[in-house]
Amino acid sequence: MSGNVNIDWSNLGFNYIKTDFRYISRWKDGKWDEGGLVEDNMLRISEASTALHYGQQCFEGLKAYRRKDGKVQLFRPDMNAKRMQNSCKRVLMPEVPVDKFIDACKKVVKANARFIPPYGTGGTFYLRPMVIGVGDTIGVKPAQEYIFCVFGIPVGAYFKGGMAPVNMEVAKYDRAAPFGTGAVKVGGNYAGSLYPHEEAAARGFADCVYLDPATHTKIEEAGAANFFGITKEKHFVTPTSPSILPSITKISLLHVAKEYLGMAVEERDVFIDKLDEFSEAGACGTAAVISPIGGIEYNGKLHVFYSETEVGPVTKELYKTLVGIQFGDIDAPAGWVVEVEL
Ligand SMILES: *Cc1c(COP(=O)(O)O)cnc(C)c1O
Repeated sequence: MSGNVNIDWSNLGFNYIKTDFRYISRWKDGKWDEGGLVEDNMLRISEASTALHYGQQCFEGLKAYRRKDGKVQLFRPDMNAKRMQNSCKRVLMPEVPVDKFIDACKKVVKANARFIPPYGTGGTFYLRPMVIGVGDTIGVKPAQEYIFCVFGIPVGAYFKGGMAPVNMEVAKYDRAAPFGTGAVKVGGNYAGSLYPHEEAAARGFADCVYLDPATHTKIEEAGAANFFGITKEKHFVTPTSPSILPSITKISLLHVAKEYLGMAVEERDVFIDKLDEFSEAGACGTAAVISPIGGIEYNGKLHVFYSETEVGPVTKELYKTLVGIQFGDIDAPAGWVVEVEL
């Protein structure tokens, strides 16, 4: 398929549209098949699929970026590939080899090139890889067959009028158990987060902050994004815990803060009653890169970091640098960007 698509690039949101091609590979009798592109966006699977009953599945999210020179690049796809292998391991699914994962992403980007937003619109091409347990398995046990699939959609810049802070409240629910599945990207974690999100939204918050499930004293995640704070001494601080999903954006921001902006970085506990130590805070993930957090409501009181309306200077600098790397305007560390031959 070719030709232009009728899309208003600067008004794109984050919505599903059917693009031309997706990649599918099937695992059966102990191995992945060759895999390839298909046009059909419907999956026909057994009603007894473990993905449907027991949540035996996982997913990833990454983006392809159109550079100023018109070329297209992926941002750290090897990190997504490895994280998906960890997710597969945790729910007893066969791992997708890193090369196969990256090759699938490249194929989907190339085959849907007309859907990749132009440079300068802020839009990107979002890829959604996933592995699902399929086949006729009704018992609570691993499936005998699996599908690895990657599709992609054009998505708009997260913040239309530039970055703007959002407020969050501390959730009264837990996202993950201490030795549960919080550190892997499996669907069940997200089904459980829909209700807390809805409650937070009904009270006027963008999302909720999850505390560590064992003691409820430390910040773990900010919605479906990792948390960071900037101390008054300009240290970049982000929590550690075995139930935090390791955000590739967060891991990249740690490097950007240290190597590009010369900041000290700390991965350590962040206590919910010690928010005073931060002069700025944010949530980070592939979708928005950074959502500045204006304030967090805890025990009935809104703790404001920098401002409820203005974005702090360090947050702006971190954002500008990482986005610059992702779109190819700033030199990336070795291995961070992978060009897709169109
Ligand atoms: C996907 C995800 C993130 C963000 O990870 P990125 O690799 O930066 O996109 C953070 N927290 C949770 C719970 C997630 O599912």
